[in-house]
Amino acid sequence: MAEENHLRPAPWVTRDSEFFWEAAKAEEFVGQGCADCGALRSPPRPMCPECNSVNCETKILSGRGTVYSWVIPRHPIVPGFEKTQIVSVIDLEEGIRFVSNLCEIDYDDVTPDMPVEVFFEDTRDGYKIPLFRPVRT
Ligand SMILES: [Zn+2]
Repeated sequence: MAEENHLRPAPWVTRDSEFFWEAAKAEEFVGQGCADCGALRSPPRPMCPECNSVNCETKILSGRGTVYSWVIPRHPIVPGFEKTQIVSVIDLEEGIRFVSNLCEIDYDDVTPDMPVEVFFEDTRDGYKIPLFRPVRT
C-alpha cells in the first residue's frame, strides 16, 4: 500500500517466530524459553539446545541490555529507509543475545557495553518491530 511506504517492511513470520511477532504487536518483548529446563532460546527454534526438549513457553523479557557489537553497512541503503541502519548485537539482561537496529544515536557515538532499551516501531501489514536505543538517564 502506498501510504505504508514510509514504514519498515513487515517481518517474515514463521511458525517458530509467530509468538514473538504477535507479542510485539502489543509492544511486549518476549523470548522463547524451554518449558522443561527453563533455558532461553534465541533465536527461537524447535528444540532446546540444553536438554533437547521440544516443549517451550513464552517468557517476557525486560527489554534492557548492553551493546555487544555493531556494524554500519555502508552500501546500499535498504529501500524504505532514509539512512543506513546500525545493526547491533545486544546482550540482554536475561543472558541471551538479540540482533536489532540501534536507533536514536549518531554512528560515531556508539560504544561497547552502552546500556540500551527496547522500543517498538510500526511496520507494514500492521506489525511492530522491536528496536533499541540508548537508555536515557
Ligand atoms: Zn531445556
